[in-house]
Amino acid sequence: MRMYINGAFTSGSASDKIAVINPATEEILDTVPVGTAVDVNTAVSAAKTAFFGWKRTPAFERAGLLHEAARKMQDHAEELAHLLTVEEGKPLEENEEEVFWTYDTFNYYAELGRHERGRFIPPGDPDQLNFVIKEPYGVVGCIIPWNFPLLLLAWKLAPALAAGNTAVIKPSEYTPLSTLKLMEIAFDHFPPGVVNVVTGAGATGEALVRHPDVPLIAFTGSVATGQRIASIAAPMMKKLHLELGGKDPLVIGPDVAMELAVKATAYAGLINAGQVCTSSERIYVHEGMIGRFSEELAEFVGSLRLGSGLDPDTDIGPMLRPHFREKVEGQLAEAVQAGAKVLVGGKRPSHLPRGFFLEPAVIVNVDHRMALMREETFGPTLPLMPYRDFDEAIALANDTTMGLGATLLSHDARLVKRFFEEVKAGTIWINDPLTDNFAGPFGGMKMTGGGRELGQEGLDEFYEVKHVHWDVEGKIKSYWFPYGKETK
Ligand code: NAD
Repeated sequence: MRMYINGAFTSGSASDKIAVINPATEEILDTVPVGTAVDVNTAVSAAKTAFFGWKRTPAFERAGLLHEAARKMQDHAEELAHLLTVEEGKPLEENEEEVFWTYDTFNYYAELGRHERGRFIPPGDPDQLNFVIKEPYGVVGCIIPWNFPLLLLAWKLAPALAAGNTAVIKPSEYTPLSTLKLMEIAFDHFPPGVVNVVTGAGATGEALVRHPDVPLIAFTGSVATGQRIASIAAPMMKKLHLELGGKDPLVIGPDVAMELAVKATAYAGLINAGQVCTSSERIYVHEGMIGRFSEELAEFVGSLRLGSGLDPDTDIGPMLRPHFREKVEGQLAEAVQAGAKVLVGGKRPSHLPRGFFLEPAVIVNVDHRMALMREETFGPTLPLMPYRDFDEAIALANDTTMGLGATLLSHDARLVKRFFEEVKAGTIWINDPLTDNFAGPFGGMKMTGGGRELGQEGLDEFYEVKHVHWDVEGKIKSYWFPYGKETK
């Protein structure tokens, strides 16, 4: 497939191509151009030209176009979910959910965007009017990771467009096809240049970050890339919206029924083969139940079915690429060397010789010196650690440099209150891990970055705020020069 610039598909000036691979079969699905700095410049110029008209388009009209895009996505939901499955690997059922969340994010921001205009504030003098207006930035650079290619794009693109910005999107080099397909089916009714897609890897993204006509970069990805982007953007004082990695804890209260604890934990840590920013990667279990819990969890996890995401019986798909799998295997090997025990999984399944599969693992005897408990794993692992009392559980949950989400399983209101007050994370889930809400802001604290997506907060990220002070009478003021003279 080709890039999408100024309303048309193009190979641009690119001479190199990237192969997009199905991680379940290792077959090449397609190729896309490696966009150059020239292509980025062409896309930014188109978006800059389109900005003038798009900003002046009434919010009601913009809302209509966004709803139409959502309708078209819904009409093509099956095709999009299928493409996501072969490109990214997770089961079709999860991708059907992703497509639903994608198009309804456009519906949500179409509505929110047309209500949003700023506010009047009290003037300092009755002859004056003071008001706060919210204005779009201009061209927004949207840089997207691979694990939820359409959803995480929607969380940026929908509010950016609703607020009156235009966009240049840089999808992940691993999963560009679904984004390009989205342009083909859902954005053909937009004025040319309002939405553009430049494909490529890090260098293409970096050209977008460096471009002087892109005042805001909305980025989701790893902490390392976020740091790199921040270092480039800092001298230019660019506004950054950063959604970075996580190392989320899940705490199981002593009052929780075993079956609920087992099923909630497996889901929280293993959906999309653990390749979710909010995966529960550290599981803390009350010491009174960890023995039985680890046995039952290992049995349940051992029964989950690995395979192609297109097979309706698959629970867990492949990892995206061999090097991501090797990173998980490396963390597991290091933990085992330091005394950890793998109760189940952690191996490449012999019945699936092709594809980048890894059996989901349950691990005990872990501690916070291990990378498995400190660094983002982004794979199918459930390391279990006991806690004595709730003070210790909270201290362990907070013992991380990251702060995206945190889950507590408990029906004890006193534990719940302590958990949401004391745990430092952008989303707190009680008894229902990893569930989003269109109106609920999503984002992180600490090294996860401070951006917020979804909700009113997710729209505000795409507005600049301007205070207008208007002296309607416009008389000469007593406090102007010259000072202390009778001419006043
Ligand atoms: P990544 O940081 O490797 O890449 C993300 C995007 O940045 C890709 O499009 C990539 O091409 C681009 N990129 C790479 N180097 C760049 C540079 N120097 N300048 C500009 N762009 C550059 O991340 P990934 O592997 O695609 O995604 C996984 C990571 O994303 C994990 O750390 C995960 O936790 C995080 N993530 C966070 C959230 C969240 O909401 N906080 C959601 C999903 C994923």
